[in-house]
Amino acid sequence: MSKVLIIGAGGVGSVVAHKCAQVPEVFTKIMLASRTKAKCDAIAARLSRPIQTAQVDADNVPQLVKLLKKFKPDLVINVALPYQDLHIMEACLEAGVNYLDTANYEPPNVAKFEYKWQWAYHDRFKKAGLMALLGSGFDPGVTSVYTTWICKHFIPKPHTLDIIDCNAGSHGQPFATNFNPEINIREVTAPGRYFSHGRWVETAPLSVARPFRLPENLGDLTIYLMYHEELESIVRHVPGLKRARFWMSFSETYLTHLRVLENVGMTRIDPVDYQGTPVVPLKFLKKLLPDPASLGPLTTGQTCIGCQVSGLNAKGRPQTVYVYNVCDHATCYKEVGSQAISYTTGVPAMVGAMMMLTGKWSGTGVFNMEQFDPDPFMAALERHGLSARVLKKAVLREK
Ligand code: NDP
Repeated sequence: MSKVLIIGAGGVGSVVAHKCAQVPEVFTKIMLASRTKAKCDAIAARLSRPIQTAQVDADNVPQLVKLLKKFKPDLVINVALPYQDLHIMEACLEAGVNYLDTANYEPPNVAKFEYKWQWAYHDRFKKAGLMALLGSGFDPGVTSVYTTWICKHFIPKPHTLDIIDCNAGSHGQPFATNFNPEINIREVTAPGRYFSHGRWVETAPLSVARPFRLPENLGDLTIYLMYHEELESIVRHVPGLKRARFWMSFSETYLTHLRVLENVGMTRIDPVDYQGTPVVPLKFLKKLLPDPASLGPLTTGQTCIGCQVSGLNAKGRPQTVYVYNVCDHATCYKEVGSQAISYTTGVPAMVGAMMMLTGKWSGTGVFNMEQFDPDPFMAALERHGLSARVLKKAVLREK
C-alpha cells in the first residue's frame, strides 16, 4: 500500500505512469504532476485505472512542498528534467518524502554531469531518515545493475567495463532526438571521457569511434565514445575496475545535422540577444524539433543496450560477459504508446520505485544503483518488460 507522486509528463513520465498503474498491489495511489496539467490529464485518460493529476512548477520549492504535504506520497519519482533535481530533493526533505530520479543534476548554464551536487545531500537525507535513489533509468540505471549482476554471478574481479548503448531503430525524421532534445544535445556535444587506471582521460566530442556488430543479427552500427554519468558512480562503487568506458551509436545523418547545427551556433546554451530579447539557441532549437513523445507511432526497429565486463572469474581465469536488452520500438508503442527510449527509461524508474516501496532496497541517505543487490531488480525487470540476455564472450574487441 503506497502512494507515489510522478513529476514530469513527458515521454518518460508517460511510461512511468503506465507501468505504475499496471502494478496496483505496490502503487496503490498515483498522482502525476507537471508544469502543464493538460499533458498529465491526457496521459491519465489512457491509463488502465484512475490516477490524480496536478499542475506544479518543480523549480518552485514552496509550491512543490505544498503539493507534497497535501497528497502525502511515500515516494517522488522525478522524471522532469535534470535541472529540477536539487529543487525536488529540497522539497522532499522539507515534506519528509523519499526520492528517485533517472538523470543527475545539471546546472542550466553549464553542460556538465557530476554527482557531487546530489551526493552532497547524503547527510541531510540520512538525518531525515529518508532515502534518495539516483539514476534509476536504463543508462544510468540498468547499466549499473547489469554491471553488479555480472560481478556477482560471473566475474568477481572485474577489470574492464564497456557500456554500449545502441539504437538500431528509425523514426523516419531527418533529425530528431529520442528524449528531451535539449538534454540529449548537451550530452552528445560534450567532450568524451573515460576512466583508465585511476584517472579520467578526456577526448574531443565524438572523436573516438568503432564499428559494432549488434547481437542477434540486429545490424552493424558505428559507436562513439562519450562521457556518461554512471561511469562516475560505478568506478566509485565497483572495486577493482581498471577501465570503464561508455559508447553510443549515432547514424551518419544524425551526426551531419548535429555538426551543421553546432557550426552555426544553434547548440549554444548561453543567451544571445535577438532584437532586445535574450534567446538561448538550444532552447529555441528544441521548440523546432519534433517532440520525442510524437515519435512513438513513427519509430520501428530495436534498441540494444548492454554491458561488457572482462576480468577474472571465481576460478581466477580470464572471462568476458556481455549482458544486454533488446527492446522493440513498435511493441513498446503498442503497450504504452511510447517508443523504446522512453520505455527503457520508464520501466526501470518504476522498478526502482518498487524496490524502495517494498523494502527490497532500503537505507537512509543518497544512493546509486550499484550499491544494492542486483538480483531483485533484475527479476522485476524481467517481469515488467525488459528481459536480459547473456553472452559469455566479447562483443566489443580491442583494436
Ligand atoms: P520530456 O522533455 O519529454 O519531459 C519532461 C517533462 O518535465 C515535461 O512534461 C515538462 O513539462 C516537465 N517539466 C519540465 N520542467 C518542469 C518544472 N519546472 N516543473 C514541472 N515539470 C517540469 O523529457 P523526457 O521524458 O524525454 O525525459 C525525462 C527525464 O528522463 C530527463 O531528466 C532525462 O534526462 C531522463 N532520461 C533518462 C534516461 C536514462 O536512461 N536514465 C534516458 C532518457 C531520459 P512541459 O511538458 O510543460 O514542458
